[in-house]
Amino acid sequence: LLLGPVSFVMGAASLRDLPPDELPEIAFAGRSNVGKSSLINALTERGNLARVSNTPGRTQQLNFFRFADRMMMVDMPGYGYAEAPKAMVKAWQKMVFSYLRGRSNLARVYVLIDGRHGVKENDREVFKLLDDAAVSYQVVVTKADKEKAPVLAKRLQAIETELRRHVAAYPEVIVTSSRKMRGMETLRAAIARLLLE
Ligand code: GDP
Repeated sequence: LLLGPVSFVMGAASLRDLPPDELPEIAFAGRSNVGKSSLINALTERGNLARVSNTPGRTQQLNFFRFADRMMMVDMPGYGYAEAPKAMVKAWQKMVFSYLRGRSNLARVYVLIDGRHGVKENDREVFKLLDDAAVSYQVVVTKADKEKAPVLAKRLQAIETELRRHVAAYPEVIVTSSRKMRGMETLRAAIARLLLE
């Protein structure tokens, strides 16, 4: 499915102009620079579906992609960019939080966590929000190639332990590296299974 036809639907800068909610939807969220664009490109095997950028905190839109008339995928603006002006952070929260709370066709949110950093405070805020909104989510660890196996294994364990406290979190974490194309099949299969539910 993810390797099939895809089209960019729209970038929504406000909740007033979201596309119709008729298809099952998945969303990708994560801190700025977590590797979200790289992951979306690797997952879909498109070199530039999502824009890889070194200026974090810039895209403030929800970008909607449509796959084979069966699914929508949303690339959410990154959060937690330290130098972002307060007003921008507020605007982000307002849009993203109300999107996550109010989107009835949202099947799952994939929350990306950098394999070198683990769960940060603003990730916890997102977990909490998703718990409160009863939106199912799963953690995807990124940049697994940047860490030695034993260190990564420990970090994974810490993340999974933490997730047990969160009611809406899927218990298992998916480990990926866009650079090494690791974990892509697992993630594609997880998404395909979701659509069958
Ligand atoms: P975004 O801001 O979350 O969309 O992150 P990007 O996809 O733009 O990636 C941020 C930086 O991390 C870029 O310099 C990428 O080249 C790098 N990066 C992304 N994924 C990987 C990965 O799997 N392995 C490594 N080593 N670097 C990555």
